Amino acid sequence: MTRDFKLDTILAHAGINSDEATGALASPIHFSTTYQHPEFGHSTGFDYTRTKNPTRATLEKTLAAIEKADYALATSSGMSAIILAFEIFPVGSKVVAARDLYGGTFRWFNDKEAEGRFAFTYTNTEEEMIAAITDETDIVYIETPTNPLMIEFDIEKVAQLAHEKGAAVIVDNTFYSPIYQNPIPLGADIVVHSATKYLSGHNDVLAGVVVTSNQDFYDRLFYNLNTTGPNLSPFDSYMLMRGLKTLKLRMEKSTENAKAVADFLESLPTVKEVLYTGKGGMISFKVADESKIPNIINTLDVFTFAESLGGVESLITYPTTQTHADIPSDVRASYGLTDDLLRLSIGIEDVDDLINDLKNALEA
Ligand code: PLP
Repeated sequence: MTRDFKLDTILAHAGINSDEATGALASPIHFSTTYQHPEFGHSTGFDYTRTKNPTRATLEKTLAAIEKADYALATSSGMSAIILAFEIFPVGSKVVAARDLYGGTFRWFNDKEAEGRFAFTYTNTEEEMIAAITDETDIVYIETPTNPLMIEFDIEKVAQLAHEKGAAVIVDNTFYSPIYQNPIPLGADIVVHSATKYLSGHNDVLAGVVVTSNQDFYDRLFYNLNTTGPNLSPFDSYMLMRGLKTLKLRMEKSTENAKAVADFLESLPTVKEVLYTGKGGMISFKVADESKIPNIINTLDVFTFAESLGGVESLITYPTTQTHADIPSDVRASYGLTDDLLRLSIGIEDVDDLINDLKNALEA
């Protein structure tokens, strides 16, 4: 599948016709960890599954195509994708990052800062980020929109400045997915995903993706992946490929539902503020009375109280005690992630059921 086809076609065709031996339409799952060599000094191109696996390789072609990039690597989780991307940079590299980050990313950054592996400067807004990038900066790290405050960064603008200063740009594209954003053509050097979320879409696969069009970065990423082994398993590679086929349909329906839910939340006196960009299924909102949060969560019936996002089922998350619990409360409060904030991942259910569920819980 080449990236000249339109996105819908690339997604629908993920993995098909990949098996020349049988013509199987759906991609076979190659569980074999080792591969027979035809004769001494010859290889089929597959030797050992940590290095290359046919099912994973088929998935990676689709992932590169949908991100309009030359290369993709599928990893065992979003966190392993982020770590793989950072580990290609030297000890002591200076990082400018958006402050509002997934809590697990922040936890790893904090550990690395303490070890002296990387030095971080955190910024709250795009203007602050632009001011913080200097000739000393090695890496600029952006989650856009941010999690959970839903602040958007202009990747093109930031990447242009970063490149002028000699820094590489890494973008976490988990929230928008390639349906709403392709960071590589906008100037990002490396894109990472928690494919656990929208890309797989059914809350049943833990996976990550690293994408790049830079040959040197790819060589180093591949070397590290082969050396350290956080590869995606053949079964999960198949599951992710299967999920990708409906990515666009799921994203469109989640967005349609999320727009209606955001409008509804805006109309409620019990809701203080709604944070929604108008794209995708992620909405955060602040309630007028924080003490009602346990009751709101316990009253919901269609929404499931759980961590994670991007699946077909709607979830409600309380970042304070769940996804962002590793960020100290004073740090969270300093950038607006206050204890009155709830995060919704809007799925593909009937929108009236979603709204009635929220109405019931928020008006109680
Ligand atoms: N990036 C973002 C934006 C996330 O929300 C998450 C997980 O919630 C991750 C990365 C980490 O991904 P994973 O849980 O697949 O390791």
